[in-house]
Amino acid sequence: MDSNSHLESHQGGCHCGRIRYKFEAPKSVTAFKCNCSMCSKRGNISFSVPKHNFSLLSGESYITTYSFGTHTAKHTFCNVCGITSFNISRSNPHAVSINVNCVDPGTLTHVEILSFDGRNWERTHYLRTKMKEAQLRGDKDNSSNESSDQGYEVGSDVSNSLPQSH
Ligand SMILES: [Zn+2]
Repeated sequence: MDSNSHLESHQGGCHCGRIRYKFEAPKSVTAFKCNCSMCSKRGNISFSVPKHNFSLLSGESYITTYSFGTHTAKHTFCNVCGITSFNISRSNPHAVSINVNCVDPGTLTHVEILSFDGRNWERTHYLRTKMKEAQLRGDKDNSSNESSDQGYEVGSDVSNSLPQSH
């Protein structure tokens, strides 16, 4: 979709406002609820943008990095307010992971949230599909009752879109 791939300018930052950034991304994005031990405790929901579409406006000196385990993933946060507003991925150094909750309101018009718990992914996707079907049924009442009940399908491209930050 052209409207979906058109890049808009967005801004975001941490809670105290010391860390501020801007980035280019579509108005509609798909964000990922990561199930790693860190993100699940943090409730992190994020989406990636190419690094060249991201620029830090302020607060570089307040960014603190936390790592654990293999220390390959670097979890950054503001050392004043504690909020992880973005993350520079190490596994994919060309991408920046943006916390969807830290984007200034108004410019993102639609956010789809996908779960990445491997054990429960199919069930999550199944429920999501059912919700979409219910929405579609509500939108067009005169559907010819064509059965869309082909269950759910595990998209083969899902593993390609796994969050890169861990
Ligand atoms: Zn802060």
